Amino acid sequence: PKISAQPVIRQLDDAAINRIAAGEVVERPASAVKELVENAIDAGATRIEVAIADGGKTLIRVIDDGCGIPAGDLPLALSRHATSKIDGSDLLAINSFGFRGEALPSLGAVGRLTITSRARGQDAAMIRVEGGHAQPVRPAALQSGTTVELTDLFYATPARLKFLKSDRAETQAIADVVKRLAMAEPFVTVILRDVSGGGDGRVTFRADARTGDMFKALHGRLETVLGKDFAANALKIDAEREGFHLTGYAALPTFSRGSAVMQYLFVNGRPVRDKLLIGALRGAYMDFLSRDRHPAACLFIDCDPQLVDVNVHPAKSEVRFRNAGSVRGLIVSGLRHALAEAGHRASTTVAD
Ligand code: ADP
Ligand code: MG
Repeated sequence: PKISAQPVIRQLDDAAINRIAAGEVVERPASAVKELVENAIDAGATRIEVAIADGGKTLIRVIDDGCGIPAGDLPLALSRHATSKIDGSDLLAINSFGFRGEALPSLGAVGRLTITSRARGQDAAMIRVEGGHAQPVRPAALQSGTTVELTDLFYATPARLKFLKSDRAETQAIADVVKRLAMAEPFVTVILRDVSGGGDGRVTFRADARTGDMFKALHGRLETVLGKDFAANALKIDAEREGFHLTGYAALPTFSRGSAVMQYLFVNGRPVRDKLLIGALRGAYMDFLSRDRHPAACLFIDCDPQLVDVNVHPAKSEVRFRNAGSVRGLIVSGLRHALAEAGHRASTTVAD
């Protein structure tokens, strides 16, 4: 008879821990792009260029002109739970995209990662990680900012690789992530390039930095991302209630869609997919749209970070509000007010 041995408890090494965590943080190439572009935004970049090949499976490169990483900090940037964005004392007051210090170590665990960076007033340097093992920092050539290159994503986790969709579907998901972040940051130039097959490839999305006040910049950015028709039919939204501020643009009911494809919601600048918010948006248009039509809108909810918890999921796309009722009420009343006013304007124009 087989006598089973006493199980031995072992501490996993960092490479294994990072690979496990990566399962949550990096679901597909688009999640890697999201993490890297968010890092570029957090670094204060004014221009972010993303290049991908084969749906991001073989190459993702993000070039930014942000603050850079000092050579001596490169190994730290790759170690788990190391971040420059919070000090851990106040998890409620987060105003950057990142704070978990998980993205870079996770990406380094599931792909071949090279970070080249130049902090202001310093020499450029680079570090390479493969299968979770970092090589020593080396001198490099770079004008400014940071360039992160991730090749052969998931080569270390073949199971995950197998579940990826077609290059086309993954490219689409990446474009969606890039566009969402571009909407959140109208003052930043955002470029997406497809370099499948080598060379400079072709630019598949380009949004040049907008100027002016927030509404003007956002309207211009939405014209680029969602199209001229959306921009021409968009109502400016600006409402406030119990500490929550709602801004953005929502389209006239006549510009509704057959599905919920053109609904973009942001909480404290962060793109979210949240049932409560989507439901509120739907509720606001209830009297204006038939059941099979869906409103088009790009809305920002801003509040004291104390009123919302973004730390619900590693990808941070879910949020929890301290007072969900106020948020719902704000969206419904803010949009209804704008729609009623527009309807009123339209009917008086006809009457004239
Ligand atoms: P987080 O964003 O949660 O802090 P990351 O693993 O994404 O964690 O990044 C770790 C750290 O590396 C960041 O806190 C930041 O200091 C630095 N970093 C990452 N990307 C960039 C970048 N593009 N520009 C400047 N610093 C960066
Ligand atoms: Mg990050």
